[in-house]
Amino acid sequence: MGFQERVFSGVQPTGNLHLGNYLGAIKRFVELQDRYDCIYCVVDMHAITVWQDPAELPRTIREVTAAFIACGIDPAKHIVFNQSQVAEHAELAWIFNCVARLGWLNRMTQFKEKAGKDRENASVGLYAYPALMAADILLYRATHVPVGEDQKQHLELSRDIAQKFNNDFADSIRSHGFADGQLFPQPEPLITGPATRVMSLRDGTKKMSKSDPSDYSRINLTDDADTIAQKIRKAKTDPEALPSEEKGLETRPEADNLVGIYAALSGRTKTDVLREFGGGQFSSFKNSLVELCVARLAPIAAEMKRLVADPSHVDRILIDGADRARAIAHETMKVTKDVVGFVRKR
Ligand code: ATP
Ligand code: MG
Repeated sequence: MGFQERVFSGVQPTGNLHLGNYLGAIKRFVELQDRYDCIYCVVDMHAITVWQDPAELPRTIREVTAAFIACGIDPAKHIVFNQSQVAEHAELAWIFNCVARLGWLNRMTQFKEKAGKDRENASVGLYAYPALMAADILLYRATHVPVGEDQKQHLELSRDIAQKFNNDFADSIRSHGFADGQLFPQPEPLITGPATRVMSLRDGTKKMSKSDPSDYSRINLTDDADTIAQKIRKAKTDPEALPSEEKGLETRPEADNLVGIYAALSGRTKTDVLREFGGGQFSSFKNSLVELCVARLAPIAAEMKRLVADPSHVDRILIDGADRARAIAHETMKVTKDVVGFVRKR
């Protein structure tokens, strides 16, 4: 089918970026730049689905932008912007709210986890989040979406929305010049590598997350060397030595997590890492992990610090990116409105 290949992904400005965001998402955004046209978005409209302090939000938006650039995303060759500057995201999300079914959204585990017990008090936005995410992707007719494991279900929902839209409006889509009846592609998730789900350092069954109240559960991209060392040394482990083969990690979530982090940071496989460290004690493995983590993260933290010191430079990047994103989004919205049957100025 004739969709131009394009990558889209987003990160929420909801707090401190951590190693999970880096290994599961941003590091992979960087790698995809050579092969695809990429659009990377700071999804501030997603962020406000839970309360964000307006005095803090601008700083976090700029910090995520700085992280993108510090990690190696090129905002001149690709597009980097914040979602709220392109109103078309909200516009298409509304149409998708009318395509997505309640039954589909009721199955979303992220809503259940984030809303917790007090579901009645969760925002409507938190519930409708996946329809906005589908709009983010499909506004650019993106074909590939690099995300961590936790976003797999949302991406499947985006595919369902694209398909239902194409089906519901098939005749109209054809009559507007799309002979194959496909206005939107089915975006493919790109979930690969040894760290698609980095776990909390305190609990190997919970994902590392910005919103975890314990700072010891995660390594932040801006942590200094001493903090990284302390967090890794305190990370939960079990009393046994490291296994020599990957199979031996299956029932040991904490060990599996630390080995996965080492593998992802060093660009090796878990098997390869265990060949080196298998049979050894956690203490010495943890020392090597601290060294590796600091070596990888320190230059990123330094560059982020340099960038956020000049907010107007960061803002210019976002404004320029938003202008280029809007040009694409605007074209998609025009044809989408025609397909739906809305009247508009020609
Ligand atoms: P929040 O707790 O506010 O949802 P988050 O840490 O989940 O924050 P997001 O902005 O929701 O961060 O996600 C940004 C990207 O990082 C997504 O692609 C997501 O899949 C990925 N990601 C988030 N946490 C992890 C993790 N622990 N391991 C791997 N990837 C992750
Ligand atoms: Mg998340």
